[in-house]
Amino acid sequence: MTETFDAIILGAGQAGPPLAERLTKAGMRVALVERHLFGGTCVNTGCMPTKTLVASARAAMVVRRAAEWGVDLDGGFAIDMTRVRARADTVSANARHGVESWLQRMDGCTVVRGAACFVSADTVMVGEQRLSAPRIFVNVGGRSTRPDMPGIDEVALLNNTTMLQLDVIPKHLVVVGGSYIGLEFAQMYRRFGAEVTVVEKGERLVSREDPEVSDAIREILEAEGVVVRTGAECIRFAPHDGGIEVGVDCQSGDPSVIGSHVLLAVGRHPNTDDLGLDAAGIATDARGYVNVDDQLATNVPGVWALGDCNGRGAFTHTAYNDFEIVAGNLLDGESRRLTDRIDCYALYIDPPLGRVGLTETQARKAGHRIKVGKRAMKRVGRAVERGETQGFIKVVVDADTDAILGAAILGVEGDEAIHSILDTMARGGTAVDMRRTMHIHPTVSELIPTVFGELKDPEDAST
Ligand SMILES: Cc1cc2nc3c(=O)[nH]c(=O)nc-3n(C[C@H](O)[C@H](O)[C@H](O)COP(=O)(O)OP(=O)(O)OC[C@H]3O[C@@H](n4cnc5c(N)ncnc54)[C@H](O)[C@@H]3O)c2cc1C
Repeated sequence: MTETFDAIILGAGQAGPPLAERLTKAGMRVALVERHLFGGTCVNTGCMPTKTLVASARAAMVVRRAAEWGVDLDGGFAIDMTRVRARADTVSANARHGVESWLQRMDGCTVVRGAACFVSADTVMVGEQRLSAPRIFVNVGGRSTRPDMPGIDEVALLNNTTMLQLDVIPKHLVVVGGSYIGLEFAQMYRRFGAEVTVVEKGERLVSREDPEVSDAIREILEAEGVVVRTGAECIRFAPHDGGIEVGVDCQSGDPSVIGSHVLLAVGRHPNTDDLGLDAAGIATDARGYVNVDDQLATNVPGVWALGDCNGRGAFTHTAYNDFEIVAGNLLDGESRRLTDRIDCYALYIDPPLGRVGLTETQARKAGHRIKVGKRAMKRVGRAVERGETQGFIKVVVDADTDAILGAAILGVEGDEAIHSILDTMARGGTAVDMRRTMHIHPTVSELIPTVFGELKDPEDAST
């Protein structure tokens, strides 16, 4: 027997639950299917537990450096990983239960537990249950990639999920992958007391960023004792008496490193392989991401894809914004589009990197004649007062139109301070608008108008 609904949502991650609320409030009968943990990646194995651990790691850093702030500690300190982990588990569990009970109490929403699989364009099976609706919203997220690397099946590697189950401090954590997820774990475990090596295939860390950002991030990590091995062209794994041997083959340094634990953080993969997309005729790209148009509709009428599984964003805020676009268009008569939004994200090493819009490299590639403004955090009063002066502010402006193209704030509060630039860009504001806006003293943000007032040709711009 087929149960019929007005809408079916696959996945209780970042877009599914708020969409269920909007659809049910509009009077629709909705089935929401979740195969594992309510709240999805962000709540259970992503943003929330990792940022909770980053906070513990920061506390360890502050304690270690306490004397610099004139605070003497008697008797040293210890990290209790069981309690550190318990704190992260509690934060996740509270959020997970919150999402689950919200959905359970939602009038008009039927929560179905199990893995959904399409059998046609308007019907999915969840175990023996057959559910049908004229609207289906795919919000199935992604998981960590496990590429075919030499020796990968001979060793036990950690991923973002199993890392969070560790309640010991590794003697030596090797992080394979020098990008956002890997670097957060690398710094955090270094602060917890592990020896840490980051092994990155590319010539520099976070290669999507401008080279000076990559270099500054490397400096921040190395200053804390993280060993960085870039240019690792032939990463391979083998069991070793001391744990796992990771072949590096760098241009310099030892040809391999031995980790007691190895985290593989080399990318993400959409959860679309077992979703029966072929049965529905839903098209994907070569990597399995669901193809969507500017309003998140798939090639099959009545089916939309939101969040990480559409490959148009890889963040909680992009998944949530997908929900807002779809809900606005379907329920509020709006005409919102993916291409209206401005790229923005943060990297949560400490101090964090806040990013918005184009990098300098991307702006040049897009054909802009640019001007750049820069200021080292050493010249930002707030950072000096805090004793945390690593990093810099960098803004990229179109030299012909004065339009703000992008910015990076690597430094204390960079993830927050970047928002004034983001909001100005969203309203079409220019460098002059930023320059003329008074900001509060003493903040990191107060120097943003100054940086926009000191624009130079990139060749002449220095911090
Ligand atoms: C370690 C880590 C740290 C991160 N930190 C940040 C951060 O600081 N900031 C940020 O913005 N983003 C961060 N992210 C990314 C963020 O977690 C994701 O972008 C976000 O969770 C995507 O939401 P989503 O709704 O698309 O998918 P998900 O949250 O992954 O939810 C998808 C849901 O679908 C379910 N599902 C899958 N297949 C099926 C099926 N066949 N049937 C039924 N249910 C199914 C899954 O069980 C899951 O619950 C981080 C990710 C990781 C891994």
